[in-house]
Amino acid sequence: MTPNWDAVRQEVTGYLQDLVRIDTTNPPGNETLAAEYLAAVLQREGIQPTIVESAPGRGNLVARLRGDGRAAPLMLMVHLDVVTAEADQWTRPPFSGDVSGGYLWGRGTLDAKELAAMELATLLLLKRAGRPLARDIIFMANADEETGGKLGAGWMVKHHADLICAEYAINEGGGFGLDILGERFFTCQVAEKGTARFAMRTRGRPGHGSQPTRDNAVLKLADAIQKIGATELPLHATATTRLFVGGVAAKVERHYGLDLQALLEPRKYRVAVERLPIDDGLRAMFYAMLHNTVTPTMLNAGCKINVIPSVAEARCDARVLPGQSAQDLLAEVRGVVGKEVEIEFLDDTPALETEYRTPLFETIRCVMKRYAPRATLLPYLVTGATDARHVSKLGTKVYGFGPMLGPTAELDRIHGHDERISIENLAFGTRVLYDIVSEFCGGERR
Ligand SMILES: [Zn+2]
Repeated sequence: MTPNWDAVRQEVTGYLQDLVRIDTTNPPGNETLAAEYLAAVLQREGIQPTIVESAPGRGNLVARLRGDGRAAPLMLMVHLDVVTAEADQWTRPPFSGDVSGGYLWGRGTLDAKELAAMELATLLLLKRAGRPLARDIIFMANADEETGGKLGAGWMVKHHADLICAEYAINEGGGFGLDILGERFFTCQVAEKGTARFAMRTRGRPGHGSQPTRDNAVLKLADAIQKIGATELPLHATATTRLFVGGVAAKVERHYGLDLQALLEPRKYRVAVERLPIDDGLRAMFYAMLHNTVTPTMLNAGCKINVIPSVAEARCDARVLPGQSAQDLLAEVRGVVGKEVEIEFLDDTPALETEYRTPLFETIRCVMKRYAPRATLLPYLVTGATDARHVSKLGTKVYGFGPMLGPTAELDRIHGHDERISIENLAFGTRVLYDIVSEFCGGERR
């Protein structure tokens, strides 16, 4: 039985509208409200979900479609919380769920309630079709991703691993189309960077602001920050980035391909990246895919205008590549700012890199070939972090693949103003996801 895709488009639009209208801004989250909404929809169709709260109001939902156990489960995972929205900066209220001009508007329509709606619809369509499945399909919708997942996926892994054990998982993080140098690519996230955020402190002689000296904590901190901004850290081409860059290089015109390959070589990177006719967004993406990064984001020093403080502090968001540790990063940062600056790590989450030569990746590739015959699916390193870092602790191979047609410019609205998704994208993503899951889990015996 093939789903009626016009009806599905309506249905999934309704789910996303409903989800957007439930305000799950984190903090405080209140994801239980969204989990209960999903539970009611699932129950109506004969699927019995479980909601477990990590803290009051912080609900995590799990549901399961049973297969015959010939193969290990596939999990469809997503988070239900969203980041804050500055409502007065939006054209339409961020929790309106309005449909207008072919778009569904609201916070979470690109991160990640659209994926929640697609996964929900996929589960329901498979249940209605009544097709035999070779694998269980688990649906997990979590709290708390946007502040690190300690009360969401991290908590589930710690306390309810039995409910979510799976061989593979499909998550947010990839799946979008990227246009590079005239060719189209789709990303499948198989790797993500880790975090090694730190506080950077400088000290100096306190005193009266009317008598300046160079021994001033604020000046020393400014000097360190200036050096960080002006210096590129060493280049590290990890396996996934080699595959990604190599895959793009193989598809585009030959002279662009040579420059792309040169991005992987420390001595050639700078010249090649300047020469390629790509926009600053892509340049920033390639840079972050090939380097550990340090971004100063918070400053703190002094409490009175005429008093020289004895200490100044910057907080830096720092990300490390697969294969790199916080200690490796520290050595690189020391090489830039010198020994005198104090550095205290505030967190340390290792990066991830999963194998991509798997049957699931192959299924995704085959399905995408049908929908976008001229586009190429490539393994992709996400430079941020997702709940994959928690779930992969259970040995699950987590792929980021929330199918999205693009254009990529829309993705810039993630965490920004006027976040919205085109209904066309939503319908496309649902259809692609359904095909991937039904082909990967289908249990018809030959
Ligand atoms: Zn997200």
